Amino acid sequence: MTTTTTRFLIVGGGLEGLAIAWSLADQGETDVMVVERDTLCSGMTGKSSGVVRCHYGNPSLVAMSWYGVDIFTRATELFGDDMAFQQCGYVVGVGENNIAPLEANVAMMQEIGVDVSLIGHDTMAELWPGLHLDDFAAFAYEPLGGRGEAYMAGMAFAAAARRLGVTIKQSTPVAELLQGEDGRVIGARLASGDEIHADTVIVAAGPWTPALTAGVDVDVDVQAQRAQLILVDQGAPTPVVPVLSDLAGLSYICREPNGELLVGNSDHSAPQYIDPDNYINRADESTVDKVVMKLGHRLPDMPDPRITSSYVGAYDVTPDYNPIIGPSPVDGLFLATGFSGHGFKISPAVGKLVADMVLTGTTTLKHVDPQDFRYSRFAEGDLLTSLHPYEGAGEMR
Ligand SMILES: Cc1cc2nc3c(=O)[nH]c(=O)nc-3n(C[C@H](O)[C@H](O)[C@H](O)COP(=O)(O)OP(=O)(O)OC[C@H]3O[C@@H](n4cnc5c(N)ncnc54)[C@H](O)[C@@H]3O)c2cc1C
Repeated sequence: MTTTTTRFLIVGGGLEGLAIAWSLADQGETDVMVVERDTLCSGMTGKSSGVVRCHYGNPSLVAMSWYGVDIFTRATELFGDDMAFQQCGYVVGVGENNIAPLEANVAMMQEIGVDVSLIGHDTMAELWPGLHLDDFAAFAYEPLGGRGEAYMAGMAFAAAARRLGVTIKQSTPVAELLQGEDGRVIGARLASGDEIHADTVIVAAGPWTPALTAGVDVDVDVQAQRAQLILVDQGAPTPVVPVLSDLAGLSYICREPNGELLVGNSDHSAPQYIDPDNYINRADESTVDKVVMKLGHRLPDMPDPRITSSYVGAYDVTPDYNPIIGPSPVDGLFLATGFSGHGFKISPAVGKLVADMVLTGTTTLKHVDPQDFRYSRFAEGDLLTSLHPYEGAGEMR
């Protein structure tokens, strides 16, 4: 048995843990170790759809996404890797019932400086020819949005962090967090029996976080919500089109690099929870049926459509579908979890926010209030909700 020491121990080598490692190193703090039980980004990061949008109803999230757009746009310059970011644009379309929140959200985003505008049916028809638009009443367009690849982003953060001196250990599961006599978290015991002692332990273990923190009596309200994704070949390659959040049909549609379509669900009215270590990795029949119906409605002229494959991931959801980023009630333990299906676009900002907070107690990220993501908000009944929620899609924060 060995004991090593580090200033910051990050548990979880997924996108968020690696973004945090890179940001700490980028700020000059390289006494950092990441431990990952399997291989890097083998958790839910590998399942991400990678949509990049700034459309949120909360200023902190808008600003964090906008920060992400800047980092993804400059990824090659910063990391020597483009993170497969395709700046194909992003559109959200709403029905009559949601025009007012759409306009209010766009105004709020514009105040923060996001490049977003309301567009009409004619422009939308030019952006995506063949899309059925009659049941949309209004659209917001972000020309700088699009899609990236979460796995590649995580690996680019990891490579950059390593170059700067961060230690990353794979196949290194944490068995339990260690507490000192005063209750402070002082490190972790690995499954091998070895110990790593740290001034601060940052747990970024996605849906596996509650199992780790329960051992030190920190109850993290995160559940693994099933997300089913379906890939469709239209019968001819889809040209480059924006990512579409369809708030009339409650789904989202993205073009895959090979011209297929990736269709996801935005209806969280009947969530299903799964064991993130044991689930069936394909969509069920009723979901496939719904996608066929919704996509057939939205793209009535697909030449020869067929479903090519499907898969399942788990969103690490909190009660308000927003992350927990901040100190836990136990000293020495910092949390970055509960990204609720929208942790990709904000990952560069999550890295900076956590690094700023653990190094200085606050953040220099503009328009971001770290208190928004505090652990205690659930017990206080002060959930982080949208200022301008969408009817039928309240979880689109
Ligand atoms: C299906 C799906 C679609 C998504 N689509 C989008 C999108 O379009 N846009 C967007 O912005 N976001 C999206 N997201 C969200 C985003 O991808 C995630 O928030 C992000 O990738 C999660 O990263 P993470 O590091 O928090 O978690 P994970 O990637 O799950 O990483 C946690 C890591 O912790 C490790 N771990 C667990 N227990 C231990 C232990 N005991 N010891 C050591 N290591 C441990 C795991 O092995 C894992 O690698 C999506 C998520 C899913 C699931």
